[in-house]
Amino acid sequence: MSLEKLADLIFPNVDKTMDYYMEKYPQRNLKEDAVVVRYAPSPTGFQHIGGVFAALINERLASQSEGVFYLRIEDTDQKREVPGAIEDTIETMHNFGMDFNEGMTGNDTFKGEYGPYRQSQRFEIYNAFAKDLIRKGLAYPCFCTPEELAELRERQTAEKITPGYYGEYAKYRNLTAEEAIEKIQNGEKYILRFRSPGNPENRVEAHDLIKGDVSFPENNQDIVIIKGDGLPTYHFAHAVDDTLMRTTHVIRGEEWLSSLPIHLQLFDVLGFKRPNFAHIPTIMKNDNGSKRKLSKRKDAEAAVSYYKEVGYPTASVIEYLLNIINSNFEEWRAENPTADYHDFKISLDNMSKSGALFDMVKLNDVSKEVICKMKAEDVYNQYIVWAKEFDKEMFDLVTANEVMAKEIFNIDKEGPKPRKDFAKWDEVKAKIFYFFDELFDKETAEQVELPKTLSLENAKSIIEVYAKEVNFNVDSQEAWFEDLKRIALDLGYCANKKEYKANPDSYKGMVSDVAGAVRAAVAHRSNTPDLYTIFTILGEEKTRERFEKFLKL
Ligand code: GLU
Repeated sequence: MSLEKLADLIFPNVDKTMDYYMEKYPQRNLKEDAVVVRYAPSPTGFQHIGGVFAALINERLASQSEGVFYLRIEDTDQKREVPGAIEDTIETMHNFGMDFNEGMTGNDTFKGEYGPYRQSQRFEIYNAFAKDLIRKGLAYPCFCTPEELAELRERQTAEKITPGYYGEYAKYRNLTAEEAIEKIQNGEKYILRFRSPGNPENRVEAHDLIKGDVSFPENNQDIVIIKGDGLPTYHFAHAVDDTLMRTTHVIRGEEWLSSLPIHLQLFDVLGFKRPNFAHIPTIMKNDNGSKRKLSKRKDAEAAVSYYKEVGYPTASVIEYLLNIINSNFEEWRAENPTADYHDFKISLDNMSKSGALFDMVKLNDVSKEVICKMKAEDVYNQYIVWAKEFDKEMFDLVTANEVMAKEIFNIDKEGPKPRKDFAKWDEVKAKIFYFFDELFDKETAEQVELPKTLSLENAKSIIEVYAKEVNFNVDSQEAWFEDLKRIALDLGYCANKKEYKANPDSYKGMVSDVAGAVRAAVAHRSNTPDLYTIFTILGEEKTRERFEKFLKL
């Protein structure tokens, strides 16, 4: 009876019970194997690539099983909240091809039958659950001050015993309801703790869908369930929310694995069915040979905004993350080069149990493949969206020369070995600048790349003759090369490597030196698509202008 009184004293306005909410949010009517999962960020305003990684795993599993993927906002630590963070999360995930079936849609709005999906708007629910627990003697008020707790911890550390609030150290665990009532009536401050039935000498077992079978000592800490500000802790909110939202799979970062014994205990004591758990390995990076966590402070690539700024297509990032999720994605991609990535079925069984290594070199390879397979039109469209925001000069040039730009983006797209020039949009300028006079004309002689065998003067004397002799009326790469060879031979260059090696003194060099000089004249760079293509895109007039400019360098 006095427990009832205590519960009423703490929550005078709570008239709902656990059962009420369990009925209000019934089992979902979904097909048998449908997976109900969530993305549950704190609204800190920082989008970490690890968040996209976690969201992608959840979203794929929901989508593959015709289940539900919902957005829950975990804002019980209100100090960390940043305005606009919810919209930003929704938009970020949308840009990465993920849309929520349910959950918050703005600060105060949500869609779905299991809401609100924002923890700070659910305190009535947590209170009802906490009230029930107090009534049943499974939770109790704790009047310890932060100083007392700090002192306890110090004492325990000095005595080399497990620190925390448990068993004999749980000062208020055995207070009678009457004593607690009196303290509350005297205005003493308190928080609510769970009365743990655990004994660390026993073990609790579970099967993690990524980590496999796991086993821990039972939790015996009387963890806080409702904090001084009236909001629940992560542990309590997780058990309540995932139960009421009918989550089937809790798929979250492995930093939560060590709290699993607490969570299992909460589910069990509350009489809730345990959901399936899967703990995702943390994204690691190789830092000079040693693996460490991708850090928000140290690594630009930890921020989702980085990928946008440097211009990775979102499809590249997704494909790369799918590679980390399941290493067999790569094989699937090779077998299905043009398939939509949504057709690849991810599986938690195939996921690496240890740290997921994030490797920018690999990301670049994946991204080059992705861009290489895009139609020139798509490359153009995506590039200008990026350039508009991050490189106004290129945006203006490319949009003013749309036809030419699309021709450039179309170079060597087909054929057995398509060009893989770009991994990200900020690499485009350096690779195509020479098509645009406005950029090309800014170059100085020092920037011109020549074959090692040629000086600028040698190259100029080649171009002087070549410009006079070249035939623009050719209609294939082969014919163009035959023409170049003809001029090179006239100039005294050799077309045959063996012969040149046997008699180096009889020649000025190889035909490739002449091609190198032409390349230097038209593009200033040694690594370019084939010259016939460049000639075709630039056209005769512009190409001839390039020869003249080169002679004046
Ligand atoms: N809000 C938690 C976090 O930001 C979510 C963990 C979970 O998915 O349960 O890490």
